[in-house]
Amino acid sequence: MMENVSGGLLERLEQGPVICAEGYLFELERRGYLQAGAFVPEVVLDHPEVVTQLHRDFVHAGSDVVEAFTYYAHREKMRIVGKEHLLEALNRQALAIAKEVATESGALFAGDICNTNLFADDEESRRMVRAMFEEQVGWAADAGVDYVIAETFSHVGEALIALEVIKEAGYPAVVTLILHQAPVTRDGLTPAEACLRLEAAGADVVGLNCGRGPETLLPSLRAIREAVSGHVAALPVPYRTHEHQPSFQSLRDPAHPDAIPFPTALDPFVCTRYEVADFAKEAGELGIDYIGLCCGAAPHHIRSLAEALGRTPPGSRYSPDMSKHAYFGTDESLKAENVEFAKDL
Ligand SMILES: [Zn+2]
Repeated sequence: MMENVSGGLLERLEQGPVICAEGYLFELERRGYLQAGAFVPEVVLDHPEVVTQLHRDFVHAGSDVVEAFTYYAHREKMRIVGKEHLLEALNRQALAIAKEVATESGALFAGDICNTNLFADDEESRRMVRAMFEEQVGWAADAGVDYVIAETFSHVGEALIALEVIKEAGYPAVVTLILHQAPVTRDGLTPAEACLRLEAAGADVVGLNCGRGPETLLPSLRAIREAVSGHVAALPVPYRTHEHQPSFQSLRDPAHPDAIPFPTALDPFVCTRYEVADFAKEAGELGIDYIGLCCGAAPHHIRSLAEALGRTPPGSRYSPDMSKHAYFGTDESLKAENVEFAKDL
């Protein structure tokens, strides 16, 4: 069961940080149920049981939120894969799956809308984007979500449309932007300026998700925290981005200099659970109170993140205890000569 079991998103934020696991696309691609490239979540219809299980895995690991897997389940993406006719069924099914797991576990139930890749800041594209958000938020409302996440926007202009649609529907909104190599939005705003605009427009939680790993996301998070007065969200990708390769798309593997690791060969760059814990502690100390991970996250990361924030999720029952390890353990029942063997491992 959850440690905080009462209230909606805003009530829970008053009690302490809310943990949100994202990263469904990458994890289901790794599990063999989703195709890299288009990255459309057809798994929701093809193998709903797999999505249900992943929601359960993340809640077991400490996520306070079950986010409906509707990322890229919008009209533009469905058109590209020739399945626009399945759009509504996919959205409604994703919401039903998430609701089931949220209800059984006491987690928050969140709807999700995201970057459309159509936004161009002209009247026609604004109308098109708004219509896509309206239909998705409408299905989320029908399903009875607690709040709606609007995520991964490169343009504040697009995020503001998403926010408007969520607010018109009467829901709390978590709005997060993505930063690429340059630490500014595609509209040329600093993350702090961008988040101030979103907060002023009524977003309940503002911040950053995806794109960058902990090391290169934290400086912008610090600036956002200083700029805004409300709740701040931080959901980096668990990859070792750094000063010279600040986004996970820009990472390069010295072992394969001619290939771009993003998105299917990022394995050598994955953060350890301990690096994720360090990030969570730092984010928590900064006063960031909606903390999670995006693409690349697996349950062991989320458990580590939750424990770093002082939680004991159900999955902590199986957290490492090396005292009983055959070679590295300290338990008296272990064989003394194994200490010698350990040196040869
Ligand atoms: Zn992501």
